[in-house]
Amino acid sequence: MRELVEAIESPDSVPADLAALGVPDSYRAAVLHKADTAMFDGVPLSERRPSDSVHIQRVPTPEPGPGEVLVAVMASAVNYNTVWSALFAPVPTFTFLERYARLGGLAARHDRPYHVIGSDLAGVVLKCGPGVRRWHTGDRVVAHCVSVDLEDAEGHGDSMLDPEQRIWGFETNFGGLAELALVKATQLLPKAGHLTWEEAAVPGLVNSTAYRQLVTRNGAGMKQGDNVLIWGAVGGLGSYATQLALAGGATPICVVSSPEKAALARALGAELVIDRGEEGYRFWRDPHTQDPREWRRFGSRIRELTGGEDVDIVFEHPGRETFGASVYVTRKGGTIVTCASTAGYVHEYDNRYLWMSLKRIIGTHCANYREAWEANRLIAKGRIHPTLSRTYPLGDVARAVESIHRNEHHGKVGVLCLAPTEGLGVTDPELRARHEPALHRFRHAAAQLSGVAA
Ligand code: NAP
Repeated sequence: MRELVEAIESPDSVPADLAALGVPDSYRAAVLHKADTAMFDGVPLSERRPSDSVHIQRVPTPEPGPGEVLVAVMASAVNYNTVWSALFAPVPTFTFLERYARLGGLAARHDRPYHVIGSDLAGVVLKCGPGVRRWHTGDRVVAHCVSVDLEDAEGHGDSMLDPEQRIWGFETNFGGLAELALVKATQLLPKAGHLTWEEAAVPGLVNSTAYRQLVTRNGAGMKQGDNVLIWGAVGGLGSYATQLALAGGATPICVVSSPEKAALARALGAELVIDRGEEGYRFWRDPHTQDPREWRRFGSRIRELTGGEDVDIVFEHPGRETFGASVYVTRKGGTIVTCASTAGYVHEYDNRYLWMSLKRIIGTHCANYREAWEANRLIAKGRIHPTLSRTYPLGDVARAVESIHRNEHHGKVGVLCLAPTEGLGVTDPELRARHEPALHRFRHAAAQLSGVAA
């Protein structure tokens, strides 16, 4: 792999040099083992440890089939789906791989005794399978995490509706937390030239999800002037939702859980911030009963910040814990848009506040290729910036996953795969110089808070 990295980093090398090196037979990867899937049975989620389930090992290199591309992964990122994978919750991901493999053909390769996890990457195209037209060996790319096959009519209006839509590296094998990764050509996007490998690797999944959830007509269709309540506003999704709201002329009302995270929300440019930790909201009196007085207290706080206005959009993902409050505080005719249920799938809300006030609940999931392309374009233009707070080497993926599982991270956590150090991969230093202050703002603020060197 050393020659490969040298060829990628050398300013004099050409794609033919990379092609001449050929493809290694095996590569290092962060994997789960099928034999381990029962290891956490009966153990509460909070007590499950990713270091028990995530292994770093060599695996055989898959051959790219028609329409597929093998990528040399310079850097990757940990997403919350990696947390679910590592905890074997709510179901082991091997269930998805087995189901996928039953389609036969190329899909059958995905059912293995190991699962290479990870749904983001920044890297270089190493080898294209038959029929790939747009991408070539040597192209610098990031990967969109949605795999589709589009043989059915259903996916042709919005590819997220394709019956064979899957999240790569979660519902498919050969993911991004590795030295090599296998993707479909229709997942690739150009890497932003002004970003380092690790900066480029982190926005993909969350930025495209937040873009669809908040901006496009498939989601909330945000417009200028909207008040947007954003839960977890400096977490993975939230740190992009906050930036998208600001860039789109809306007003984010950022909910976070500590004064440190409130400072990070301000570093992103937000002015209206609610520290749910300090203000002590308890929307559930006990595990079965919500407390509408707490919804009202939360709504009053929002009005205090906005000068008396309610929110047009709630950017939801905590789920059970917050959903009742989210429905309550949305303005008449407003939208609650949800993509997850971190704190529990079964939501309860008082339906009178929904129907009498003509509110809408919209479900959304990741993004189609077009939406991902547009979201990536905002990154490439420097309108939205990566919120990388920390990187780990590939050998430390379990620790990186643990930090997210414990909610100890800020923004996004990156992983160096083939990149030997941080700071490599920039091909447009002029654009970088223009955005340097904004690129460093979040990282520096996060580093100061956690005492880690930026
Ligand atoms: P993350 O980086 O952990 O950020 C989530 C933030 O939500 C946390 O930092 C926390 O912020 C806040 N939060 C957590 N539990 C909460 C609770 N009980 N009440 C209020 N706030 C809470 O994770 P993420 O990447 O943003 O992902 C969030 C969820 O979305 C996960 O379940 C993930 O699987 C899902 N997701 C779905 C899609 C999709 O396409 N459907 C895509 C990406 C992510 P504070 O502590 O500061 O409040």
